[in-house]
Amino acid sequence: MRRLAVLLVISGTIWSICAEIKPPKPGMNFFSPQQDIQLGKEAKAQVESQMPVIHDNNINGYLVQIGKKLAASPHAGDWPFSFEGIYDKNINAFALPGGPMFVNTATITAADNEAQLAGVMAHEMSHVVLRHGTHQMSKQQFVQLPAILAGNAMGNGILGAIGKLGVNLAANSVLLKYSRDAEAQADYNGALIMADAGYNPVEMARFFEKLESKGSEGRLAQFLSDHPTPGNRVKSVEQEIQQLPQKDYKEDITGQLASVKNAVQHLTPPPVKKQPNPQQ
Ligand SMILES: [Zn+2]
Repeated sequence: MRRLAVLLVISGTIWSICAEIKPPKPGMNFFSPQQDIQLGKEAKAQVESQMPVIHDNNINGYLVQIGKKLAASPHAGDWPFSFEGIYDKNINAFALPGGPMFVNTATITAADNEAQLAGVMAHEMSHVVLRHGTHQMSKQQFVQLPAILAGNAMGNGILGAIGKLGVNLAANSVLLKYSRDAEAQADYNGALIMADAGYNPVEMARFFEKLESKGSEGRLAQFLSDHPTPGNRVKSVEQEIQQLPQKDYKEDITGQLASVKNAVQHLTPPPVKKQPNPQQ
């Protein structure tokens, strides 16, 4: 019995080492990729109507520019990504199933270089590619979800149908609360996306570790509770990129971060929406 336990520990260790170096694959999921896209589209409309989404061309244009570079990676799949800023002094970013991504203005301000901002985006993008949001929901609602999704096979009104399960579908919902395993996977895949785009993947891990070191209170609470640390992020990414072909990675590609930070500082707050901010 004891030998079996030892064997299990050893094989578990070997498995976890292997798991670290193998590109992650999406887990069990009752949603079809089309339903991910439909759900994300509906949730995006909700975010846009309830949260202070900005319409500044400098800022959103910058996010789109970086986002497109990242989305061109084969590791970003074929999802209809979109990129918008949210006027918020809390550091956060989130991507809804299927591709809509939102980046808080404070995240832009907090980045030491463009690669760090690109890192957050590549990480969020990876949650979309690996379908972590709908995977998480599939695990939690495995009894009722298949019938609900079958009833919505035509792809209309998934958000409302799922809402009837009593699941909170606001922006801080189950769709955005990831496990530590999902975090490690998003780091791994995010590093591959960054490497393809030419950004230094280690900057992604450095930014996360910088945020983690500041503690999970105040302006970081939501972000760190949605993205719990898998630990040793910099070390993991360093090990990962050793296996990639050598490349001259950049910390900055567009040269626009400073001017966009300036635009953030001078941004007029968008009018307060009628609905309460679901992130609060
Ligand atoms: Zn994450």
